[in-house]
Amino acid sequence: MPQYLLDALTNTWTIFQYVCLIYCVGIAIETLFSAEKAQPLQAIGFNIAYTALFLLMTNLLVPPLSELIKPLTDRYALAIPISFPDSFLGQLGQTVCFFFILDFFYYWFHRFQHEWPWFWSMHKIHHSEYSLNITTGNRHHWLEEAFRVFFIWLPIGLLFKQKPVTIGWLWSLFLLWGYFIHMNLRLPLGPLTTIVNGPQAHRLHHSNLPEHHDRNYAAFFPVFDIVFGTFCKPKRGEYPTTGLDTGENLNGLLRASTAPFTDWYRRIVGLFAKKTRDDTTDHTAT
Ligand SMILES: [Zn+2]
Ligand SMILES: [Zn+2]
Repeated sequence: MPQYLLDALTNTWTIFQYVCLIYCVGIAIETLFSAEKAQPLQAIGFNIAYTALFLLMTNLLVPPLSELIKPLTDRYALAIPISFPDSFLGQLGQTVCFFFILDFFYYWFHRFQHEWPWFWSMHKIHHSEYSLNITTGNRHHWLEEAFRVFFIWLPIGLLFKQKPVTIGWLWSLFLLWGYFIHMNLRLPLGPLTTIVNGPQAHRLHHSNLPEHHDRNYAAFFPVFDIVFGTFCKPKRGEYPTTGLDTGENLNGLLRASTAPFTDWYRRIVGLFAKKTRDDTTDHTAT
């Protein structure tokens, strides 16, 4: 077996075990404080199986793409330093600063996914979740991480030089945030709602109610939604239903994997059909 494939499989297996542990702890907490009772086990089971596929494809696609952009970031980087002291407060600042920058680029990538139909075809898998829970955190199409290399990691690599964070658990805490915001939790953050993202605000992002559409894009810091006009503050006790307006069900490994490709195919066929119609109309008119 080629080393590249072996590395991808090994990394996938290692990460999958950690993720399963996170899921187990998360599901136990969700059972105690759930926003939505009696979620279907089948949907959670699908997400766990899909997580394995998502991690494998990410480990296959991202390393070669990261190598591809490395010469660019090595050669043209502005290298604006993100370098704080090694004290606890310094490292907290370093971590927050990095994730703040990351969230800026994530905000725009995410917004682009909602506003550009070609990207929505890929992102809708994440939103085809009718019972939002911790396992939704990895329910992204496996092409997404590849796109993030160019839309998020390339600009960050071109602009900044990040000193490695020396307090590992601080870094891990932020990495876990993506799981936290998807949790099926009745947990209002009160005055913190406008400072950090939480499960209630992100639930609004997944809501299928029209007033919540295209809101709350940021993963960590709602300030980006506030500044760019997309923030929707959750009301007291507001935990809406989630999923796609169309009711489309993508809970199948093949269905979820191929959904963007079939959408793109339909769009391309539609574009050609429109062009043919326009050409025929032009000829008839003249
Ligand atoms: Zn979204
Ligand atoms: Zn989400």
